[in-house]
Amino acid sequence: MESHAIDLVKGAGKQGILLAELAQQMKETETKVLEVIDSLSKNGQIKKVEEKHDGESVIRVIWQVKDDAEWDTLQGCPCFICPDINQCGAGQPTTPWLCGKLNTWIKERLD
Ligand code: SF4
Repeated sequence: MESHAIDLVKGAGKQGILLAELAQQMKETETKVLEVIDSLSKNGQIKKVEEKHDGESVIRVIWQVKDDAEWDTLQGCPCFICPDINQCGAGQPTTPWLCGKLNTWIKERLD
């Protein structure tokens, strides 16, 4: 239920979605959906905003987590995706100064 709510709130974009609409789309009661939303808002994933619609208070829920973070590998440095990184370093089976992948990558940067 939580992942379904997350998908729908994320899909609603910056304007968010009214709690009533969300409950309708999830085929759940507003009370049950509100419990999920309260839990998600505690960890900062979702923001609840109170609005007035035709004189009645309604709750709008808006996704708060930015998904536009990018993974920066410093122009493809092999260490960022290396399966051997836990065995690499002083006293380890592999070292950066003897690593063919890393040395090739450095040489390509210097050429
Ligand atoms: S130096 Fe080589 S072995 Fe070590 S983490 Fe980087 S790519 Fe992997």
